[in-house]
Amino acid sequence: YGEFNQKIDYVFKVVLIGDSAVGKSQLLARFSRNEFSIDSKATIGVEFQTRTITIDHKTIKAQIWDTAGQERYRAVTSAYYRGAVGAMLVYDITKRQSFDHMTRWLEELRGHTDRNIVIMLIGNKSDLGTLRAVPIDDAKEFAQRENLFFMETSALEATNVESAFLTVLTDIYRITS
Ligand code: GDP
Ligand code: MG
Repeated sequence: YGEFNQKIDYVFKVVLIGDSAVGKSQLLARFSRNEFSIDSKATIGVEFQTRTITIDHKTIKAQIWDTAGQERYRAVTSAYYRGAVGAMLVYDITKRQSFDHMTRWLEELRGHTDRNIVIMLIGNKSDLGTLRAVPIDDAKEFAQRENLFFMETSALEATNVESAFLTVLTDIYRITS
């Protein structure tokens, strides 16, 4: 993902939100560095990673922000959301509570961002299908009602991670350009 001497046409800020331990940091590691670690330490301090992609012959720097382990309701500060044009709303398909919390995460996100923000609902850990606690149809219904993109992903197996981020970034580009 060499960025040296590249002319950047756009920088898009995308934020990751959702409960602790749903896999936000691993999704980011997978998308930005194609890495995964089993025992990821809880994230400390606000962090972002970048990856440069090309859409329509334009160079786009995706700046993906990861929460600082501040995943409790209302603990994420407004600075985190500031300027975000995209968001990944992440739950764990094996943890019903993490899906039930999507409503309040979405409410908080919408309260802090522009109405044109592009949002993807992500059910992560699709490799753990035998432990599934959230039916796909529940998530699809929620996404449809709230006008969100939706995908199930596995950061572990690298399933749909690229596709989820690229869908969001492409839609942001479509709106921006
Ligand atoms: P965060 O708190 O939302 O940033 O969650 P992490 O990225 O730190 O992940 C929490 C735990 O879930 C870690 O033990 C990860 O190894 C694990 N994990 C993350 N993504 C996946 C996945 O796609 N599949 C499986 N099986 N485990 C995952
Ligand atoms: Mg984390």
